[in-house]
Amino acid sequence: LRAGSLWPARVTVDLGAIRDNVRTLRERVGGAELMAVVKADAYGHGLVPSARAALAGGACALGVAQPSEAIALREAAIDAPVLTWLVAPGVEVLPLVEAGVEVAASTPWTLDALAAAARASGTTAVTQLKADTGLARNGAFSLPVRAGDPRTDWTDLVDHAARLAAEGVLRVRGLFTHFSHADAPRDPTVRAQQEAFADAVAVAERAGLDPEVRHMSNSAATLTTPAATWDMVRPGLAVYGLTPVPDLGSAADYGLRPAMRVAAAVAVAKRLPAGQGVSYGHTYAPKRESTVVDVPLGYADGVPRHGSNLAPVQVGGQRFTIAGRVCMDQFVVDVGDLEVGAGDEVVLFGAGDEGEPTAQEWADAVGTISYEIVTRFGPRVPRVYR
Ligand code: PLP
Repeated sequence: LRAGSLWPARVTVDLGAIRDNVRTLRERVGGAELMAVVKADAYGHGLVPSARAALAGGACALGVAQPSEAIALREAAIDAPVLTWLVAPGVEVLPLVEAGVEVAASTPWTLDALAAAARASGTTAVTQLKADTGLARNGAFSLPVRAGDPRTDWTDLVDHAARLAAEGVLRVRGLFTHFSHADAPRDPTVRAQQEAFADAVAVAERAGLDPEVRHMSNSAATLTTPAATWDMVRPGLAVYGLTPVPDLGSAADYGLRPAMRVAAAVAVAKRLPAGQGVSYGHTYAPKRESTVVDVPLGYADGVPRHGSNLAPVQVGGQRFTIAGRVCMDQFVVDVGDLEVGAGDEVVLFGAGDEGEPTAQEWADAVGTISYEIVTRFGPRVPRVYR
C-alpha cells in the first residue's frame, strides 16, 4: 500500500476485468445487446469508472435503480442510453427527461409525469414499460387477478402509453420484466415468467407499440437461461465478475473475473499469551502464544459483523480467519508465529487467483450473497482503479 496515504485500506477495482466480463457476456448471448446494471455505485465498484469500462467492453446501455444515479452518469458526460427503474411519487422527472434518461414506468401516473415533463420541455420523453410477470415487486402486474379477466394493470399501462405515444410526447423504447427465481433455472416460475412476458409483449404490440428492445435476463438468466435473452440482457453481478449461481459453476467456469479486491495495512502487530481473550466480549483466545494483528477495517466500512470468527483473510500468502468480534473500525487476526508487522498487507478478498479469499467465500462464511459483500464497502474506503 502507498505510504503516506490518508487511508489504511482500499478497494482496488480492476476495470479491465469489468470490460472483459462484458465482452464475455456479450459473446455468450450472441448478437443480443447488453445493458450493464451499474446501480448502487456499480455494486460498490464506483459508478462512473465502472460504467465507462462496461461501455468499453460493448455494453449498449446502462441500468440504474435511482434517478440520482442516472443524473450522475449524465453529469460525467456519459451519453449512452440510461434506464432508471425506481421512480416514486415526488421524484421530479423533468431533469430526467431533459437529460434524455429513460424512465421505466410501472404505473400510468409515471407516464403522465413523463408526458407533462415532455410538454414542458418541448421534447419527447423516453420510457421502457416494466411488466410484473410474477415477481410481485415493481412493474405493472400482467397476469389476471381474477380468472378470465381480460384487463390487467399491464393492459392499462400499455393502452395509456399508446395514447401518449400517439400524441407524440412519449416514446416507448423498451419492454422488460424481472425474474423471481433466475438463480434456480429449473424452477417452474422461470418458464412461466418467460411465457407471461411473451404474452405481455404481444399485448403491447397489439396496442400498436413497436419497442426496440425487449429484455428480462439478469446475470443468473444470462448465464443459465439462453431462451430468455430476447433483444438484450441486463446483468449486474456478472459484470463485476461474480456469479449469482455459484452452485452451477464458479465465476471462472463462466469466463468471468472478479473486479474487486479489498485490502488493508496491518495497524498494530503484537504477541499475546495463550488464553488472552481478543476483541469485544473475548469471543476468541489464542490456544498458544501468538502474534495477533489489528486490521483497520470494520463494520462501518462494510466488513460484516457476522464475519466475527468466521470470515477468511490472507496475510503473508497464508489463510486465516478473523479472530473475535469485528468492531466498528477494526478487526483482529491471529497469525500464529507468522512474521507479520505493522504495514504488511491483509487481503480480505479478491479475484482468488493468488490464493486470496473471494467475495463468494465471504458470502458463504457470513451466510449472505456476494451482492451484499461487494455493495457494503462504503465511502470511507477509497476506490483505486487499475
Ligand atoms: N434488472 C433489474 C430490474 C434489477 O433490479 C437488477 C438487480 O437487482 C438487475 C437487472 C441485475 O441483476 P443481477 O445483478 O442479478 O444481474
